[in-house]
Amino acid sequence: MKQNFGVNARVLVLMTITAILFSLFFISLYLLERSSYNIVLKSAQEQLDKEADALISVSARSLDQITWDYTYWDEFVSAIKKGEAPWYDENITTIITSFHMDYVCVYDENFNIVHEASSENTKVRNIIPRSLLFQIKDSPQNKFYLNTSDGIFMFSEASVHSTSDPTHKTTPAGGYLFVAKTLDSAFIDDLSSLSGTNIKLLSPSDSLLSQNENNVSTVVALNGLTGTPVGRMLFNREQEGLKLYKRSSFIMLLIIFSSFIITWLVFRFALSKWVLKPLRLVTTIIGSEDIKKINELQKAPWEFNQIGHLFERHVKQKEELLKAKVKAEGSDKLKSSFLSNMSHEIRSPMNSIVGFAGLLKEPDLPVDQKLKFIKIIEDNGARMLNLISDLLIISKIEAGHLEVNISQFNLYELLDYVYAFFKPEVERKGMQLIMEKKLGDNYFNVRSDREKVYTIVSNLLKNASKYSKTGSVKFGFEVIANDLKFFVHDTGIGISKENLALIFDRFIQTDASLSRKYEGAGLGLSIAKAYVEALSGRIWVESEPDAGSSFYFTIPCEFVSFIDNSSI
Ligand code: ADP
Repeated sequence: MKQNFGVNARVLVLMTITAILFSLFFISLYLLERSSYNIVLKSAQEQLDKEADALISVSARSLDQITWDYTYWDEFVSAIKKGEAPWYDENITTIITSFHMDYVCVYDENFNIVHEASSENTKVRNIIPRSLLFQIKDSPQNKFYLNTSDGIFMFSEASVHSTSDPTHKTTPAGGYLFVAKTLDSAFIDDLSSLSGTNIKLLSPSDSLLSQNENNVSTVVALNGLTGTPVGRMLFNREQEGLKLYKRSSFIMLLIIFSSFIITWLVFRFALSKWVLKPLRLVTTIIGSEDIKKINELQKAPWEFNQIGHLFERHVKQKEELLKAKVKAEGSDKLKSSFLSNMSHEIRSPMNSIVGFAGLLKEPDLPVDQKLKFIKIIEDNGARMLNLISDLLIISKIEAGHLEVNISQFNLYELLDYVYAFFKPEVERKGMQLIMEKKLGDNYFNVRSDREKVYTIVSNLLKNASKYSKTGSVKFGFEVIANDLKFFVHDTGIGISKENLALIFDRFIQTDASLSRKYEGAGLGLSIAKAYVEALSGRIWVESEPDAGSSFYFTIPCEFVSFIDNSSI
């Protein structure tokens, strides 16, 4: 369960929270950008609304100016009364050319046309419906739009008064002047270039064109005399700045977003490679102490590599501690088995000595009995002496006071002596002792530690004889390069595989029970090993249970003289 909330999970949660926070930040940034965009769009819209209204009213105002200026004029009043056609041609028709108008029309006070003129392109005549004419009667000036077969016209109208009435209010109207400008393509183009907008004329029923998001547009209604629109003017302005603003905002958001994603991925990758993977290894190692994983961790960067080394040290120390523990337990067992063994080894000869010495006190003891008892006392004394000298040697070895005394001696002489010493004992058991002399019966002088070589060979022969019941014991040596290689073969009880590695340790006996068949303190082989090693040699054993054992040891040796007289 804990595993689920390990560093990996916590980091993931942290990164997810960061991602959520960043998304919120990103969304706010987006909304902020949207709202500033809308503000800019709104102000552009308002600007266009104002501009469109202003443009239309400026155009209409110039028309109003004309009709107003012409219509407080005595000459005009009398021309209407008298029907002076030439006067109109000179003074009214010229409005078309002078002010780039398309249509002029004069009505008398009863709304009968008294004069009508138009530009070249305007063909329509008598275009104002009579029903409309009566609506203008009460106001001195009107402006309105009219839809005709020649297109939409922008009209301005004023009632005609005498010069003394510039307000058009104090005298009755002598007639009416209508001046019109057609909203043709030239007019629209002029307006377009003046306003920097795209302008379209629409009929009231035309639907508005679909608008691009980066455009602002506005519609100005062109109202007729009754107030209902006869057409509409659509102003449309492309907002290049807005387009750019939107694009750069989008690119900016994209850059921020992608850099976050890239940073997130890089961070996740680095974290996984440098922290999470080694941490997983650490967790596995804590559970298993797998040395392969430790080696893998040692390849990880920085601190984890040191942790890997720390683990390695820890595992090694643990192994060593375990070994030391096993050894300490072993030595504990060894100590108690040694003590009981020693007391056994001391008590049995001492019992014999004390027992038989007491028997010797018998005054009537026959001589042969006496001699037999004395022999037993001597043998047990010798056994005690051997044990004590073995213990002294071992304590010297333990204290590191082993000395090597090199001298020159005849190796054959030494082996002959050992042979003579062990022969009776071996033969008494019904076995045969064989000394192999490969180099013939001669003398072989070497320089080494005579005492130690003697002790090693004696200890091996003693064991060979002790642990065999039938067959033979064979010993000898051969020369291999600068080494002497000794051997002792027996046909005895042999040694099991698991004991082979132990028997050279001190106090080790394969059968350490008090009821064991063979006497001994378990020191012979460890003394032999310590001596061989002091002479820079090596000792080993090959054995099969119930088939016999072969002990070997080598010692580097200086050969002084060697005469082979076997052929003599
Ligand atoms: P010990 O005094 O018991 O003989 P050693 O150190 O000489 O002590 O021998 C250690 C043990 O090795 C012996 O107790 C015995 O079990 C085994 N051993 C030594 N030599 C032989 C051998 N030739 N054949 C079988 N076992 C042997």
